[in-house]
Amino acid sequence: MKERIIVATRNAHKVEEIRAILSDYEVLDLSAVTDPPEVEETGTTFLKNSSLKALAISGLTDSLVISDDSGLEVDGLGGEPGVYSARYAGEEGNDALNNAKLLRELSKKGAGVNRGARFRCVICVAKNGKILADFSGAVEGRILESESGLGGFGYDPLFVPEGYEKSFAELGEEVKNGMSHRARALAGVAEWLAESPAT
Ligand code: IMP
Repeated sequence: MKERIIVATRNAHKVEEIRAILSDYEVLDLSAVTDPPEVEETGTTFLKNSSLKALAISGLTDSLVISDDSGLEVDGLGGEPGVYSARYAGEEGNDALNNAKLLRELSKKGAGVNRGARFRCVICVAKNGKILADFSGAVEGRILESESGLGGFGYDPLFVPEGYEKSFAELGEEVKNGMSHRARALAGVAEWLAESPAT
């Protein structure tokens, strides 16, 4: 039987990517937990927010819990939107508004603005209300001048990873999951799980 892992997120896209990458595990969403709380992301780092989410959920279940806090850092915007990526335009999880705001902020800086960027992800592993480990991943790239592609979620239509000419939204699930910030953090999780049979 596959070991069960609950992902402490309401973002169905994240769950889908994590399920595809951790295919040796039974990856469940928050519907596996009774009355999961809304976790306020009060931290100023990906690690802090990731651990807040993992702790809030792992106190409610005996299963292993992983959390994902992630976001986009754009060089020409001093690292923004960073930990505020999901609510950059003011409304939690409104990808269209967030992407429009990102393009607006870059164009305000003028044609020479540095469009270099990276996605970052921090995943915490928790059990019975305790953080057992945390893993980070990042992928470098650049921000396009307009959205391109229909796949993925969030800032994917604006982000071209280093070494490619297409956005994550155009490259598709398999390519993205082979190199994304989330895939890189999850590689650490998978290695750790394989070496920690007691969990
Ligand atoms: P969180 O749910 O607070 O971790 O916020 C994550 C936000 O970062 C998402 O709502 C997206 O805006 C952005 N983000 C994180 N990972 C990705 C990704 O893989 N593709 C596109 N956007 C992402």
